[in-house]
Amino acid sequence: MKWTVFAAAFAAVSLMAGGAFAQAAFPSRPITLIVPFAAGGPTDTVGRVLAEAMGRNLGQQVVVENVVGAGGTTGAGRVAEAAKDGYTLLLWHIGMATSDTLYRKLPYKTFESFAAIGLVTEVPMTIIGRPRLPAADFAGLVDYVKKNADKVTMGNAGVGSASHLCGMLFQSQIKQVVTTVPYPGTGPAMTDLLGDQIDFMCDQTTTTTPQIQTGSVKAYMVTSPERLEQIPNVRTAKEVGMDFQLAIWHGVWAPSGTPPAAINRLVEALQFALAERPVAQRFSGLATSPSPKADATPAALDAKVKAEVARWKPLIQAAGQYAD
Ligand code: ASP
Repeated sequence: MKWTVFAAAFAAVSLMAGGAFAQAAFPSRPITLIVPFAAGGPTDTVGRVLAEAMGRNLGQQVVVENVVGAGGTTGAGRVAEAAKDGYTLLLWHIGMATSDTLYRKLPYKTFESFAAIGLVTEVPMTIIGRPRLPAADFAGLVDYVKKNADKVTMGNAGVGSASHLCGMLFQSQIKQVVTTVPYPGTGPAMTDLLGDQIDFMCDQTTTTTPQIQTGSVKAYMVTSPERLEQIPNVRTAKEVGMDFQLAIWHGVWAPSGTPPAAINRLVEALQFALAERPVAQRFSGLATSPSPKADATPAALDAKVKAEVARWKPLIQAAGQYAD
């Protein structure tokens, strides 16, 4: 009897020690956070805020690496093939779900290649135009697009990006196909828009808010159900007679097969980062907010991907949009 109690106590103590050891051991070197779009764009902006805060909690630097191409799928493929040790992570968004239908071939398997860490944030989108675009409001934009259909250009970050998805919805709503110009991210697309090189695009508030606030671009619509206090003059889709709402949820993933101890430690760091005041303040300035703790979990992100693949599949199939 005494022996059993002793053995049980001993087992409990060694389990605790084992757990503490595993936690102390990871991470022992810097972690790479792959952002699958260009520097200076919306995902990069979220990634850098997150990397700094997670790094503080992990006691190791989290270094952002931009691996661009094919609407984010190239960077995702890189993470799928990375060592399964928790030192290479992916920050991506709704594209994880839409690309599953948009692409006939992907360099990874949506439901098999990744181990979810958790949700990060949901970002509204805005339709913005170049500074000299001769359209004062949304109706003016639609009018301009239809009258100049043969030459009007809409920027995006490639098939699978949020800007592509939003552009697809916009074109189907106004029943007008336009020429799209793909970039490795909407960061460089914004540079061209500001220089009047492309006419308009739909991009996330994480990069458009400062440009709208300073009047550097024309703003026609926001995809959130209500107007945003950071850009109060921009009308909602409903107000301009459009029927679409779009929130660009973001998540963090590791390659599948990453040890549970590392995943748990990363979840802890993610939840720490999202509870940080400076993170909330920075996000708020860009018209978004950190996901609640209950969503910053592997289960919540897995459920999101599953639900979103199912939600977008019929819409993408109906739009007949595919890439190889
Ligand atoms: N998130 C992309 C970027 O950071 C843009 C997009 O998805 O539309 O450039």
